[in-house]
Amino acid sequence: MAFDYDLFVIGGGSGGVRAARVAAQGGARVALAEESRYGGTCVIRGCVPKKLMVFASEFRGAMTDAQAYGWTVEAGGFDWPAFRTKLHAELDWLENVYRGNLHKAGVETYESRARLVDPHTVELADGTRVSAAHILIATGGWPVKPDLPGAEHAITSNEIFHLDRLPKSMLIVGGGYIACEFACILNGLGVEVTQFYRGAQILRGFDDEARGLVSDEMIASGVNLHLGTNIEAMEEGDGGYRVTATNGTKATFETVMFATGRAPNTQQMGLEEAGVTLGRNGEIVVDQYSQTGVPSIYAIGDVTDRVNLTPVAIREGMAFVETVFKGNPTPVDHELIPTAIFTQPEMGTIGLSEDAARAQEPVDVYTTSFRPMHTAFADRPDRVLMKLIVSRASRRVLGCHIVAPGAGEMIQLAGIAVKMGATKEDFDRTVAVHPTMSEELVTLKTPVDAA
Ligand code: NDP
Repeated sequence: MAFDYDLFVIGGGSGGVRAARVAAQGGARVALAEESRYGGTCVIRGCVPKKLMVFASEFRGAMTDAQAYGWTVEAGGFDWPAFRTKLHAELDWLENVYRGNLHKAGVETYESRARLVDPHTVELADGTRVSAAHILIATGGWPVKPDLPGAEHAITSNEIFHLDRLPKSMLIVGGGYIACEFACILNGLGVEVTQFYRGAQILRGFDDEARGLVSDEMIASGVNLHLGTNIEAMEEGDGGYRVTATNGTKATFETVMFATGRAPNTQQMGLEEAGVTLGRNGEIVVDQYSQTGVPSIYAIGDVTDRVNLTPVAIREGMAFVETVFKGNPTPVDHELIPTAIFTQPEMGTIGLSEDAARAQEPVDVYTTSFRPMHTAFADRPDRVLMKLIVSRASRRVLGCHIVAPGAGEMIQLAGIAVKMGATKEDFDRTVAVHPTMSEELVTLKTPVDAA
């Protein structure tokens, strides 16, 4: 049977665009449908605008430090509208780059929602039907709000980049990546930030010592963090929203933001009708080649809820093209993925937390926490952490955790060594780069238990 296309991609985010582009460059006839903007969450409402806001927010501390270093600094206020205008101009430019790259590669694009009709047919919003030998779903995820009275008044990370003005006060609900990153960003920009997290410590799943330090530093820098606390209800009140917390207290915040997780975008797409299996959270169930139970349909990225990170979606897209269009079945490697949380200070991490490693096998833990030169000189009390978890049997580094300014940059590089299977002795053989913070990673002498 002749199909209109070799590949039809639904979703123009990082994963979908990469797969479409690489398949088309290899000679496949490819089309892609995107209902919103090219670039998806990462470019339009995630990593990219978030990181630019991190940069903006860090200037407050930098200006204070500059004074401590002898500079005369006369800081005015932060001009949110000016920043926001420039931010969105940047995103428009990037979106054009994405669109342009698709067209240059010969991908036909449809600016439309698309849904499945059967294993080889897609229907666009205007009713047009097109057929393809393979269909790739890369529709990402979307923030979810808890179901509680008044929740409709709250914003999510989608809206944060579009605020007319920065609020005076803000409640952020959640303790994951997004909640913690935005608590730090908005605090840096001068908003009075309160954060509610229902559990005992933020950043569940990460190394306890590392997340403990991030939490301490966030509190020290002014985030009003309430652990073991959740929101029960919110209602419109004078000057904002009156929030009732689970501990019975009430307070008013100008803005409330939920960062309570994201759900895969799988609704009303005709997936189950076409035979695609969805998991408990609505995610598309796929095998190691990103193939669903329907042989012609594949899915990559956040919609599969495996490891929800942009570079992973891109990897999954590349592996899909290798497997389906290059005759080279390539499973996606989800082991030892380095990641960074852009809190202030940042956390960079790869591999097992201390608890997870101890549950697996006997380990030696090497850790040091200290005041770095840069901020110590400016009389700031900030501390950083460098930590290695090492297998006693093989001496391999099973986990590396860094809490420090620039930890995202550091873990990318340390991650290469860990992914290669470096031992503690390999780290030790490497000469320190002095004076840096990360040199501590190669000079850690005594394991914690032996100290
Ligand atoms: P996460 O899953 O990381 O965190 C969700 C948070 O909300 C958790 O603290 C969770 O608590 C809490 N929560 C969930 N439901 C409720 C509820 N009903 N009431 C109160 N609290 C609730 O999601 P995020 O939205 O922060 O981020 C989504 C994903 O995006 C991340 O997992 C990550 O993969 C990716 N991301 C990556 C970034 C990076 O690489 N720097 C940056 C931003 C996002 P509990 O822990 O108790 O379940």
